[in-house]
Amino acid sequence: MNAPAEIPVLVVGAGPTGLTAALELSRLGVPVRIVDRAAAASPESRALAVQARTLELLRVRGVGTEMLPLGNKAGAAALYAGGRKLAPIELHRMASDFNYILMLAQSETERLLAERIECQGVKVERGVEVTAVRGLADHAEVTLRSSGGSEESVRAAYVIAADGPHSTLRKSLGLQFPGRTLPHNYVLADLHVDGDIAQDQVSIFLARNGFIALFPMGEGRFRVMATDPDEVAGQMGEPTVEHIQLLYDRVAHIPARLHSMNWSSRFRINSRHMKTLRSGRVFFGGDAAHVHSPAGGQGMNLGIQDMINLTWKLAMVLDGRAKPELLDTYSSERLPVIRKLIRFTEIGTRIFNSTNVLVHAIRIRIAPKALGRNRIQNTAASMFGQLSADYRGGEFGAGDRVPDVDGLYDALDLSALTLFTDDGAALDVARRWDGVVSTRADRGGGWLLVRPDGYLAAAGDAGDVRALERLLERWFVAPV
Ligand SMILES: Cc1cc2nc3c(=O)[nH]c(=O)nc-3n(C[C@H](O)[C@H](O)[C@H](O)COP(=O)(O)OP(=O)(O)OC[C@H]3O[C@@H](n4cnc5c(N)ncnc54)[C@H](O)[C@@H]3O)c2cc1C
Repeated sequence: MNAPAEIPVLVVGAGPTGLTAALELSRLGVPVRIVDRAAAASPESRALAVQARTLELLRVRGVGTEMLPLGNKAGAAALYAGGRKLAPIELHRMASDFNYILMLAQSETERLLAERIECQGVKVERGVEVTAVRGLADHAEVTLRSSGGSEESVRAAYVIAADGPHSTLRKSLGLQFPGRTLPHNYVLADLHVDGDIAQDQVSIFLARNGFIALFPMGEGRFRVMATDPDEVAGQMGEPTVEHIQLLYDRVAHIPARLHSMNWSSRFRINSRHMKTLRSGRVFFGGDAAHVHSPAGGQGMNLGIQDMINLTWKLAMVLDGRAKPELLDTYSSERLPVIRKLIRFTEIGTRIFNSTNVLVHAIRIRIAPKALGRNRIQNTAASMFGQLSADYRGGEFGAGDRVPDVDGLYDALDLSALTLFTDDGAALDVARRWDGVVSTRADRGGGWLLVRPDGYLAAAGDAGDVRALERLLERWFVAPV
């Protein structure tokens, strides 16, 4: 017989994905260990964009509000070509209290998450690397190696693989990471821009020979991302500020001087995702499970939201309130969201990069017309903000996003399902499912059941509680 698990959950990797997992699990009272092979947190700015949906979800978990004063808000993404402004994507249209992109260095986001986790009694174990994982029926066996060379074998009921794009756990379990590397070369840099470039919008300059995008970080500093048609892969070092100035001058019409660069890098876009996010006792999330173009500032957000989806389910299964099959809905709900986002970033990248004269001409003519339409504006803004992601059509339930307007999420029970109702029949059901369901008064007439991650589980009319009972019986365990 196998020895029992020693810990409920081991989180591998303390990037934004793993930190969010530890944040949620520790808040929900699940004993958790989180390890990272790096001796210290990365000081690099990396992902800058914190999207509206991430802020909605983190705010009620004690992190989002601290992020706001540290970041810079961009309320639009403006497209320029041929020396003029084509159109803006108006992010302020988003139906969210956070109707902008918050530009905040990933190192700061990670610092705030780690500080919050410490307040909840968990410390990241640094200099601890996972070298192998073996999945068994009722637990996973994980080999940890400390930077001093000592080895430890840990039995965890569940493992969260948040160990980044080169995931050791993915490789150790022999899982594929299918997809492709896109052909274009890019440069990224953080630098100062002297010139008339707006500080409250993302500015994207399109040309026949590539694009350059400037993300405002505040106080005149920008993250620059540009196609680099000159690069011969592997033959040039880190891009210099002079090289980036050259790329800027080629594509942008607003005169500007670029200087005081503190970081730059070259990269190619990989567009890949796993076919399933679960392998037995191991769940994959963040860059370990999906990578794509950084153009829309989506990557880090996707990983954080993976964990917001998974952790409440894990907590409820571990304390016996939910049936283990609820955990399968993590992969079935997140994969369609991931696929859609990868498609969105690939299409965007292809349109921005096309050197075809015809495509460029169409781009210049079509963009202002398309973005002049309300429907397209609203769709584009909520795609950016990840507000349009939902779990509709899944097995679990309705799956619509419940917006966090006017602090609605403050009313949610983040550790159970919340039933908004004044209906007697629905309140009777809630009493029988005490611990699984919390109730909140609502004079709307019927009933609304909302998940801890802010998505709709089910809704119904007053007196008709069949859908409510069906959902609870299907996925949860009635208290005795
Ligand atoms: C230069 C650069 C610029 C970027 N810019 C953007 C951007 O502008 N917008 C955007 O959305 N995204 C950007 N990204 C991507 C973004 O940083 C990632 O999407 C995000 O970091 C993913 O978070 P994660 O926690 O899933 O993985 P990671 O941040 O990669 O964290 C994984 C962690 O796991 C640890 N680890 C790895 N293997 C092991 C092991 N075997 N044992 C223990 N620990 C392990 C690592 O040390 C690391 O701390 C950028 C990335 C880079 C490198």
